[in-house]
Amino acid sequence: MPAFSDNAISVSGLAKHYGEIRAVDGIDFTVQRGEVVGLLGGNGAGKTTTISMILGLLLPTSGRVTVLGHDMTTSDRYAVLPRMNFASPYVNLPQRLTVYQNLKVYALLYGLRNVDACLKTLIDDLRLAPFLNTTARRLSSGQKTRVALAKALLNRPDVLLLDEPTASLDPDTGDFVRSYLETYAQTSGCAVLLASHNMQEVERLCARILFMKRGRIHAAGTTDQLYAHFGRDSLEQVFLDVARAPDEAAAQ
Ligand code: ATP
Repeated sequence: MPAFSDNAISVSGLAKHYGEIRAVDGIDFTVQRGEVVGLLGGNGAGKTTTISMILGLLLPTSGRVTVLGHDMTTSDRYAVLPRMNFASPYVNLPQRLTVYQNLKVYALLYGLRNVDACLKTLIDDLRLAPFLNTTARRLSSGQKTRVALAKALLNRPDVLLLDEPTASLDPDTGDFVRSYLETYAQTSGCAVLLASHNMQEVERLCARILFMKRGRIHAAGTTDQLYAHFGRDSLEQVFLDVARAPDEAAAQ
């Protein structure tokens, strides 16, 4: 058995360089089963690159990444991909298909049994019925985000990677989606890595937070640990401190 198999996600010495650009520059962290971990950082900090390597979409320059004990840098990843999923409002669904057709295609690709029952549950839960027959290209960004989330939950993943899952949602829908994710994480035992620029969302959902800056993990801990370390009482203030701190002032 691989050494990291107790962790849902395990990242060790992970780096991705594009020539001189160190998009990710040697990071280490784990996400346990049933844990929701926030991945924060300013624009260009390396969050999406990290998520892409965890998904096996990008090969690291160096380092190791395993999911449920499987090495995501080799063909071993195919063994675990059916147990993972990903949502980002910035990745488009096939545009000419309706919402229902999109969900059905993905359900069949994931090899789900009881496709109709699974779809019905998600359509009800995420309130997709009013635009089920709308083509993906005609959706508003908020509707698109909810469909992307439904697609990400189709296979009831054990490991879920979320890149700004509530970007562009109005406050009411954003709150609804956060509640849904909170319940899903608590009841499914899923490991969730959540990249977000929404501090309230991270405070509400995440047991632990990783702050990235220039490809490195600059600070990590629970909200209380981070508040104590930075002498602050909100994540937004901690974010600003991290963003404005010299690179070497790291905290673990
Ligand atoms: P944001 O919050 O803006 O989405 P991020 O934290 O997700 O940012 P990344 O998209 O991971 O950041 O980018 C990290 C760095 O790597 C940035 O400087 C970016 O310009 C660079 N980068 C990402 N992809 C490439 C690429 N294919 N070629 C060159 N540089 C890249």
